[in-house]
Amino acid sequence: MTSCSAKFARSRRPRQLSLAGALLVAAILLSVARPFLHAQATPQTTVIRAGKLFDPQSGQLQDRPVIVISGNRIESVRSGNTPVPAGARVIDLGDATVLPGFIDVHTHLTSNAGGAGYEGLGISTPRAALTGAKNARLTLLAGFTAVRNVGAEGYADVALRDAIEAGDVIGPRMQVSGPPLGITGGHCDSNLLAPEFHFNAEGAADGVEAVMHKVREVVKYGADVIKFCASGGVFSKGDNPLLEQYSPAEMQALVTEAHRLGRKVATHAHSALAIKDAVRAAVDSVEHGIFLDDEGIQLMKEHKTFLVPTSYPLFWLEEHAPQMHFPQWVLEKAAIIIPAAKQNMTRAFRSGVRVALGTDAGVYPHGENGGEFWSMVTLGMAPIQALQAGTINAAELMGWSDRVGSIRKDKFADLVAVNGNPLADVSLLKHVQFVMKDGVVYKDEISSSAAKAEQ
Ligand SMILES: [Zn+2]
Repeated sequence: MTSCSAKFARSRRPRQLSLAGALLVAAILLSVARPFLHAQATPQTTVIRAGKLFDPQSGQLQDRPVIVISGNRIESVRSGNTPVPAGARVIDLGDATVLPGFIDVHTHLTSNAGGAGYEGLGISTPRAALTGAKNARLTLLAGFTAVRNVGAEGYADVALRDAIEAGDVIGPRMQVSGPPLGITGGHCDSNLLAPEFHFNAEGAADGVEAVMHKVREVVKYGADVIKFCASGGVFSKGDNPLLEQYSPAEMQALVTEAHRLGRKVATHAHSALAIKDAVRAAVDSVEHGIFLDDEGIQLMKEHKTFLVPTSYPLFWLEEHAPQMHFPQWVLEKAAIIIPAAKQNMTRAFRSGVRVALGTDAGVYPHGENGGEFWSMVTLGMAPIQALQAGTINAAELMGWSDRVGSIRKDKFADLVAVNGNPLADVSLLKHVQFVMKDGVVYKDEISSSAAKAEQ
């Protein structure tokens, strides 16, 4: 018998405990547990006062809100001179506008801008997870209190989500996909190495049975949502964004299997045909949707599919691509995609297709996520709709309408504030001055500066 199995055998042997010993243990446990029981019974009450509150459900601005928070949940939202409960912590945000914490349904926390190409091959999974810890913090401080991370090799995103939930790392609430599924040689594969390396990305899967197996595998290792690539993309060598990659039969099998296991499905799709086949396969959201045509819009409206336009990178790349040392194939594809995307997004917004906000941060620096509100409005969306896309619509797509997306009773105390009226100027949302998640203040440039001025 090895020492290891001997230890195992010992640990399984039932232990005898005398009555006196048992009573002593119970007394110790009770005395240790009492402070925690007390803390649970009386969660801290926090009262937030502000100039206005934006409610995405009604689309209205409410004057002089008084938000009462108990622990990590919203207790009530009232107006005017509501008396402050005894012992409450009061945060006075002056004339600022309070909004629900923003939600980004398409981000890449475990990667940085410029990571495409050969340099990215040298980044290990542990390194990617640490990059994720840095970017999770930046994203939260930008006002995004919940995100969906769509695509991470090695399950670095699962590790990040779990570390945030455990309180080890600061960041938004997360849903994660793990490795994205895609065809061999497609946008979600890794196509940079020579054939003798025989290398495929973790999510590569071909054929109906293989995609079903891959869905089960990523769910097994912690995916909350399934991401797959229905068409080619910009940052992948040797494929074409205008062409479909998975067949309709593969998409059907993939989505059906994911739904059977209680997971929603997000698809990267540029080509008009890929978008339509994915929507017919009952995908929950079309990410990017660059070559979306009228028939595709109609199908998305019939199926109530969300469009996640990821429009800010279009503007960011126009300005910064020349300095980013991207490979030539990226620049060539971007030159085709950017003008088409701007035109088609404007048409999609006018059509009334449902939109959830996604930023594709990771293509550009994390923390600039609020630029997506500005870019959607620049492409023709009303400011109220842009705010709804980044709050209640995103919450609905994530299946989290019961807990985030608006400042209403019983939802998590996730909220942000900006000085001024963001409905008149959405670019204010690029820099929020106050961030609370789960009842904890992570950023306060308003009440703290007012307190300093009074001293
Ligand atoms: Zn992306």
